[in-house]
Amino acid sequence: MLEEQYREIRERVDAACLRAGRKPEEVTLIAVSKTKPAEMIQQVYHAGARDFGENRVQELLEKEPLLPGDIRWHMIGHLQTNKVRQIVGKVCLIHSVDTLHLAEEIQKESEKRGICTDILLEVNAAREESKYGFFLEEAEEAAVRIGQMPNVRIRGLMTIAPLVRCGEENREVFRNLYKLYVDMKTKNIDNGTMTELSMGMTGDFETAVEEGATMVRVGTGIFGARQKREIGK
Ligand SMILES: *Cc1c(COP(=O)(O)O)cnc(C)c1O
Repeated sequence: MLEEQYREIRERVDAACLRAGRKPEEVTLIAVSKTKPAEMIQQVYHAGARDFGENRVQELLEKEPLLPGDIRWHMIGHLQTNKVRQIVGKVCLIHSVDTLHLAEEIQKESEKRGICTDILLEVNAAREESKYGFFLEEAEEAAVRIGQMPNVRIRGLMTIAPLVRCGEENREVFRNLYKLYVDMKTKNIDNGTMTELSMGMTGDFETAVEEGATMVRVGTGIFGARQKREIGK
């Protein structure tokens, strides 16, 4: 059943790509497996998923050794600086870099290990009080500063859009983030490493793909409902 749900979401991503004149392979579907057990993740893996997202360091570290080694783990939740040590080197991408201080910690830890860590800047594109992230007008300055850190590589931008009843309601939010993304790429602030735009969840991923997302993060739509709502803060 989970295999089918995964395939159905993937098909909807592909269809949204075609509607927007984009190639389906441009968009990575990240299966958000937070709160779900390893057995369920295994089923989705069997359907072909290789990218999985978790929002808690502890939970990610517990599941990772139980699952196939070719899974690409994405840290998508708010990251406390005191957890950086545990997560650097374990994930392919940290989506949720929301302060310069956090970026500095990632820099320090990556330097210690002699690695380069890929990150996204989290942008609070709708200026919600309840959300982490840089405001749209702060992102460029942050990217300039983080761009000087030799062991951190900015791969793009991420946002958690407002919870809405219909995905269409977030189109403007996605469009604004896409504009910023293109603008930052044009100015070459990132030295050409920015290729990812992580936006869209179960309720609005099709709109996000139409507006330029290269990564969508879908939990409920693949794994079913969670007990608690654990999004953003
Ligand atoms: C939980 C979560 C998601 C997935 O949410 P769904 O609505 O279940 O698809 C995506 N992104 C982040 C950052 C999350 O915490």
